[in-house]
Formats: sequence, structure tokens, C-alpha cells
Amino acid sequence: MQVIERPSAILEYSLEHRKNSKKIGLVPTMGALHEGHQSLVKTARAANDIVVVSIFVNPLQFNNKNDLEKYPRPLDHDLEVLESLGVNAVYLPGEKDMYPEEPQVTVNFGYMAEVMEGKFRPGHFNGVGVVVTKLFHHICPHSTYFGLKDLQQYLLIKRMVMDLSFPIEVLGLPIIRETSGLAMSSRNGRLSESGLKVASNIYQGLQKGKVKWETGATPKETIQAVLDLYKEIEHINVEYVELVDPDTLKNITVNNGQAVALCVAVFVEGIRLIDNLYLWQD
Ligand code: AMP
Repeated sequence: MQVIERPSAILEYSLEHRKNSKKIGLVPTMGALHEGHQSLVKTARAANDIVVVSIFVNPLQFNNKNDLEKYPRPLDHDLEVLESLGVNAVYLPGEKDMYPEEPQVTVNFGYMAEVMEGKFRPGHFNGVGVVVTKLFHHICPHSTYFGLKDLQQYLLIKRMVMDLSFPIEVLGLPIIRETSGLAMSSRNGRLSESGLKVASNIYQGLQKGKVKWETGATPKETIQAVLDLYKEIEHINVEYVELVDPDTLKNITVNNGQAVALCVAVFVEGIRLIDNLYLWQD
């Protein structure tokens, strides 16, 4: 496994493989790798000749300085994990490699970035759009793998790739959870044992919403059922609970038994956690 730090070096690496008709899959991450990341890497490994994983904690997408500073960076562990999964190259750019100057160009995703995460994390998706565009240019992958844990991010990247004609296939893969139901996240490591127990109720809330929706409740009733459950749990502070179209992220106003996504953001012990669940009626 090669560890490559310079944009020019990873580009040379990729172009050489492309010249030899090798298919390149990219998994962008911010490190602190868990089984959610690993499932993306395994899928990429099975479908490509060359798998590149990038690790870059992108300051441009953090709207909270404390969150950026406290973000875990267990690099040796991450490299061991990636080696064991048969990754060909890890792209590990420094901040100056990625941003020799503060970018002046912004990525405006339109209305889909104004709801949910976009509403509560100003500037976040611009940061994601800029860094992912740079990674695409630095690595020139044929395909790229994102987790549905960050549903809005996945949809926005898909939209950007379509609207701006990036010649890249974007794949979205299912959320990997702890046995408690808690969606795996690099931020979970910052929770205490009791915080982890509290956080497992995030998924309980989503499941309660699913049952409601599937038995014909209105969108409002479905959301309220989730809020009611969270209200009973001490130490969960809700930021939003939204029921949206899983492609357009538009708010759902009626229950026709259509597929919808129930999306939540909450704080536990001051750590912001997001999760979502697809719901539909048979
Ligand atoms: P991050 O390192 O948090 O930027 O995440 C890198 C990629 O891993 C993103 O595409 C995430 O959506 C994905 N990811 C994070 N957590 C999970 C999870 N629990 N299950 C599946 N994918 C995940």
C-alpha cells in the first residue's frame, strides 16, 4: 500500500493506472476509520482494480472550531486497517497541499443544501463540495463511494457530478450500525459509556417513526412520534427531525405510502450526531 501526500504525485499515480486501463475507485474519508468506512472500502475493493482512500480532515467543512480540533486522528490505526483491506493507495494531503490559498470559488448546491444539515451548519456543504471536487481532480477516479449515513451529502455530490458533468459514478452504501442500533461514526468515540447508551435511542426514535409511517400516520404525526420519544430521554437535545423525499429532500406533506427518508440531528454530551432511516409502506 502506498501512502501519497502530494496532489501531483497522486495524479501521476492515477494517470499511470488509467493508461493501463485500470479501474480506479475512490473512498473519501476524514479518517478515524470504523466499520462504516470499511464497508465502503470493501465494496470499492470488490469492484475496482485500484482502490484509493483519502484521509483529510477538511477544515473548510467544519463550522464549529471545537469540533474540528477534537476530531480524532488515529493515523497509524487507519493505515493498518486500510492495509488489511487491500487498499492500493492512501491519499494523505496536508492542509497546504489542499488549500495553498484560501479558496475564493464556492460550490452552491442550490435548495438541496438549504435544508437539514445546510440549515444548521452554514458553509458546511460548500466545504464538502470544494474538497470533493479537488479530490476528484487529484485522483481522477472512475467511481466513488459514499455512505447513506450522510444522505444529504451523498445526494448533493450525485447532483454536482450530474450538473457539472464529472465523469465519475457515485455510489451510496447502507448505514452500518452498532448492535445497539447506533449508527457508526468517528464522533461516537467522544461519547462516555452512558452517552453511548443515550445515543442508541436515536435509532429507537427512527424505528418508532417507521412504525407510525407504515401504519398510515401523517407526516406531522410521524415526526411528532419521534420527538415524543426523544423528549422522554434525558440528555438528548434535538436539532431537527425531518421527513423528506429521499431523492429531492423536499418536505413530505402527505402519506401516500411512498418511500421517504426520516432524518434526525441531535446532540448527546455536546456531540452532534446524525442518522436517518428509509420508510415506506408495502
Ligand atoms: P467521514 O469520515 O465521516 O467523512 O465519512 C466518510 C464516508 O463514510 C462518508 O461517505 C460517510 O457517509 C461514510 N460513513 C460514515 N459513517 C458511516 C456508517 N455508519 N455507515 C456507512 N457509511 C458511513
